Amino acid sequence: MTTAVTGVDDTLVEGLRGAVRGAVIQPADAGYDQARAVYNALHDRRPALIVRAAGAGDVITTVNAARANDVALAVRGGGHSIAGFSTCDGGIVLDLGNMRGIRVDPSQRTVRAEAGCTWGDLDHATHAFGLATTGGIVSTTGIAGLTLGGGMGFLARRCGLSCDNLISADVVTADGAFLTCTASRNPDLFWGLRGGGGNFGIVTSLEYRLHPVSDVLGGPTFYPLDADVVRGYLDMMSDAPEALGAVLGFVLGPPAPFLPEHWHGRPMIVVLTCWSGPADDDGQIRDRLSRVGPITGQFVERMPYPTINTLFDQALPAGLRHYWKGVYARELTIDAIGVHLDYGATLPAPQTATLLFPLDGACHRVAPEQTAFAYRDVAFAAGFGASWSDPADDDANIAWTRAYDAALRPHSTHGGYVNFMAPDDADRVRVNYGHNYDRLAGIKRRYDPGNLFRLNHNIAP
Ligand SMILES: Cc1cc2nc3c(=O)[nH]c(=O)nc-3n(C[C@H](O)[C@H](O)[C@H](O)COP(=O)(O)OP(=O)(O)OC[C@H]3O[C@@H](n4cnc5c(N)ncnc54)[C@H](O)[C@@H]3O)c2cc1C
Repeated sequence: MTTAVTGVDDTLVEGLRGAVRGAVIQPADAGYDQARAVYNALHDRRPALIVRAAGAGDVITTVNAARANDVALAVRGGGHSIAGFSTCDGGIVLDLGNMRGIRVDPSQRTVRAEAGCTWGDLDHATHAFGLATTGGIVSTTGIAGLTLGGGMGFLARRCGLSCDNLISADVVTADGAFLTCTASRNPDLFWGLRGGGGNFGIVTSLEYRLHPVSDVLGGPTFYPLDADVVRGYLDMMSDAPEALGAVLGFVLGPPAPFLPEHWHGRPMIVVLTCWSGPADDDGQIRDRLSRVGPITGQFVERMPYPTINTLFDQALPAGLRHYWKGVYARELTIDAIGVHLDYGATLPAPQTATLLFPLDGACHRVAPEQTAFAYRDVAFAAGFGASWSDPADDDANIAWTRAYDAALRPHSTHGGYVNFMAPDDADRVRVNYGHNYDRLAGIKRRYDPGNLFRLNHNIAP
């Protein structure tokens, strides 16, 4: 997608420099290259301006300037957008990464966090009170982008999606207004924020419901790449307590000390477990994992909840290249399992993985029209696609992901998770928002009729 525009001139830059408290960075400034870099190195863009907001006031000022000058505006929280939407060529990047204040209210079991926080920030802050909410499984991912698209993680079966735990949000809309949204204040906007992505405004802070979660039993268990293992996993999940979060993965065996060397680099299945139920039942969880299939290696220990969301950070550092897609599945059919096994056997790079997040339990108890996240009857959200390091491998990795997608599509009549989508998936926006699309378009018309916020999986006004 090209995002080039020409509207950033000296007057605009000087106006912003004088009006905002945070740094305003231009291409000639020291630190520009570092400031423009996003997590997914596939998106090597050159914005005309990067504004590092110090607070909601800077966000309002920047939104007003972008709108008045008709300049492309990208918003960046954690910067993990797979599709590259948190940067642009020639426009303004509004970087919220310095807005990281967090306040936990243990008596109400809530937390309010500024939109530049990562899940690592939030997990750390709430863990001090023995509390947590559903968030991403890599600690460097931003809370805002993940929550606005839905938000899947280890606690989803027990506590619902991240967006289900959102109880209020402060938002700067396209006209520069600052609105607090809850179920009763600006309820249409609040509804759209819970699954509708960054289409409606710039969220400056988010308030979540928290749950008693302290230490958990968790980590990866590896098995051979075999259909029986997938069946064993499905059996395990069919009657698993909701406090068992267990993500199914197709990966290459990592060079980890708990995995025998002859498995390193070989295609395998992994079950990423997080048991947040009573420690007394740890033995039962271990038994369940051993019934999934023959274990080739395992690192499953008791650990603080924030730690489980850092186990994969090192394997996925910023600066890799990523091209992913996503599909939802009501059930994993034999044919779909066959496709995952075929592509699991040909993973093109060590960082590449397919992950299937179970979305039952508490996720199913939210009615499909209660939030913008439409898919409340699916069993799994699959995210698949290549992650690699060498630009010379771009074409091969993108082609591999597209072939995987084409093979899987006949076995999935539904959409996919917006937060796993590639930049060229614009034709899937409608199906990905499902039956909620028309209502979302109405909210878009009300709050952003000029489509200022278009660097996202865009809902046209
Ligand atoms: C390594 C990795 C692990 C992941 N793990 C998970 C996971 O466990 N569960 C899961 O559900 N998803 C996961 N994802 C997908 C993730 O949800 C999306 O990439 C998400 O967009 C990241 O949010 P961010 O704030 O880091 O991204 P950014 O790149 O900062 O933002 C992405 C988009 O979100 C919107 N946005 C961000 N902040 C705001 C804001 N303040 N106001 C309005 N709009 C905003 C904008 O449209 C922006 O373009 C993962 C992605 C990666 C790369």
